[in-house]
Amino acid sequence: MKYIDEYRDPGIAKALVAEIRQRTTRHWVLMEICGGQTHTLMRYGIDELLPQAVEIVHGPGCPVCVTPLETIDHAIELALRPDVTLVSYGDMLRVPGSQSDLFRARAAGGDVRIVYSPMEALKIARQNPQRQVVFFGIGFETTAPPNAMAVWQAHREGLRNFSMLTSHVLVPPAIRLLLASDRNRVQGFIAPGHVCTVMGYRQYEELARDFRVPIVVGGFEPVDLLEAINMLVAQLEAGRTEVENQYARSVSREGNVPAQRLMETVLEVCDRKWRGIGTIPRSGYRIRQEFAAHDAEQVFGFPQHGVEEPAECISAEVLQGLKKPPDCAVFATRCTPENPMGAPMVSAEGACAAYYHYRRNAL
Ligand code: SF4
Repeated sequence: MKYIDEYRDPGIAKALVAEIRQRTTRHWVLMEICGGQTHTLMRYGIDELLPQAVEIVHGPGCPVCVTPLETIDHAIELALRPDVTLVSYGDMLRVPGSQSDLFRARAAGGDVRIVYSPMEALKIARQNPQRQVVFFGIGFETTAPPNAMAVWQAHREGLRNFSMLTSHVLVPPAIRLLLASDRNRVQGFIAPGHVCTVMGYRQYEELARDFRVPIVVGGFEPVDLLEAINMLVAQLEAGRTEVENQYARSVSREGNVPAQRLMETVLEVCDRKWRGIGTIPRSGYRIRQEFAAHDAEQVFGFPQHGVEEPAECISAEVLQGLKKPPDCAVFATRCTPENPMGAPMVSAEGACAAYYHYRRNAL
């Protein structure tokens, strides 16, 4: 297949559903990791097309959702400083911290600007040498290379007024945490195609071997996901536990090696707190000491404070595939995208938000 329409072709999708139905002999629980994949599954009703024996649960792969409340609070604190211009992607502005959000910080007079690339933040820093320009850089391995590039370029130019507030998280340690849990139900994973485009899939081979679980690297269109599910069910039915690559049009085993080298130059692996889950060892990136002049945490120093999630929110279980959003007592009543109470409702890619948009009237 060559064109995007073919990856949305109803005829191809129906044939794949029939194949999955025909080869399924028992109940299997599969998890898609990425929020973009969750969105496609819900939007096209793929989970409802599958045989009942194939259960899909949703993973923690929405970077906006898993950014800790404390980090959002730090961004808001910076935005309200008179000497700081806080630069961010648009989807972070409405994400609530413990008390407020960046939209409200802007309404209160904070200099908050939206960009589409961290390189635009660098441009703002060059044009405003009297201001401290802080880029709010979050995400999975997918957004780490451009963010690392911005820090590297600022270092190269000696741009002392540019820094990055970062909360990068990594997918394989999160999968390892899920698989090591006594409560794990997941028997096969769809790995995120965009993350593997950057990182390759060698790390997933370790997971498949250590936990004897099949993993298929999948894309983001309906036919991509149905193919990935079909490949997982085929492995499970045959008793195989391998890593396979459905998204071969973008992903190679080695990934994007120059991007990985750049990330290794600027960033190092660290323990990282995931909103709704807690701290996962070696599950994130921080800026290396050599580039500390561009690390907002080191430039500004933030007091450490813990922030509690609302007691009703079961996001930890939703993000680990143990429960689904409608199992939550406040889903679509007190918790909505306009008034999110927990991590998976804050971004359109979160599982609770996806159920809210595509399923709430059918529940
Ligand atoms: S519906 Fe809201 S409160 Fe419930 S788990 Fe999802 S985010 Fe948390």
